[in-house]
Amino acid sequence: MLDIDKYKKELSHYLNNADNILLICHVNPDGDAAGSMLAFYHYLNSRGKNTSMISPNYLQEFLTWMNGSDRINIFIRDRKKCRELIENADLIIMFDFNQSNRLGEAEKYVLKSKAKKVIIDHHLNSESFSNLLISDHTRSSTSELVHELVSAISEGHFVDKNYSEAIYVGIITDTGNFEHGYFNGKTFRIIADLFDTGIDKDKINDLLFNNFSESRIRLLGYSIYERMVLLPEFHTAYIYLTLADLERFNYRKGDTEGFVNLPLSIKGIDFSTLITEREDNIKLSFRSKGDFSVSEFAEKYFNGGGHYNAAGGESNDSLENTIKHFLEALKKERGNDA
Ligand code: 5GP
Ligand code: MN
Repeated sequence: MLDIDKYKKELSHYLNNADNILLICHVNPDGDAAGSMLAFYHYLNSRGKNTSMISPNYLQEFLTWMNGSDRINIFIRDRKKCRELIENADLIIMFDFNQSNRLGEAEKYVLKSKAKKVIIDHHLNSESFSNLLISDHTRSSTSELVHELVSAISEGHFVDKNYSEAIYVGIITDTGNFEHGYFNGKTFRIIADLFDTGIDKDKINDLLFNNFSESRIRLLGYSIYERMVLLPEFHTAYIYLTLADLERFNYRKGDTEGFVNLPLSIKGIDFSTLITEREDNIKLSFRSKGDFSVSEFAEKYFNGGGHYNAAGGESNDSLENTIKHFLEALKKERGNDA
């Protein structure tokens, strides 16, 4: 169990001694990465701290309504400014990842920066590239952990609606609106506190979950109807999408979010994978139910990682070879399940 009191003191020490604080989230930021970073930004702003934010690349469109998101510097858009922000920072706080390659193009600049580095995260198997690692994989989200830290440091006195919204977004996106992932009574007590600050849950739910384009819904139907392959002998299903598929359905960043969970609702399937062809590589998303560690699977075969039941990875091979590699890995890891 994470000792919040201990980390509160250590984190406070770093915050009190920093003049230029930089917050960074992981590449392809999801609701938790953006939410935890924005929440911390609102908190530091309230303390009058000089704080900037960087995301390695663009936010998914369904997150850009969040207050403060227009103040996030995008590394691949403003490289020079972002490099300067990294160089001038004396404290860099990283959110929702624990492997430095999740910094994308910003990685090498962050690694060589002389700033003190703090990671706040909830993934398994952390790499050591920070001075302080605050991580607990039993938390629903990095946002939940950020909220506990901020509540501890401010002794419960920090109340701000933009902050609450950001924490709420992190928690409900990482749990798929409480369908999967880790959450417990404590998570709901935090949600209750957030509600008490006056957030509009219906508005946020609509913005996050009911904001899709027609073509995204059609892509979803196509993915399930044409591109889902069931392998009952491995209790596994996978969906693959080619670049041409994505173009046909006018793909926008974030459109395939959630697809990977759907095959898990098929009776007898407890491992699901989404394999997506991208311009520069192949992205894989893994989900499992119960006793199969997809973070280990992702790490071992696809240079990735994540959580026990939700992870991701990449491949630099062709789509065809990636699927072959996936099927071979499946035989090795789940051959006895047949
Ligand atoms: P998703 O499948 O939704 O992209 O990601 C599921 C989980 O795995 C998230 O917690 C995400 O941070 C992590 N993840 C996704 N892709 C990668 C990757 O390429 N490398 C690592 N280390 N983690 C990943
Ligand atoms: Mn997360």
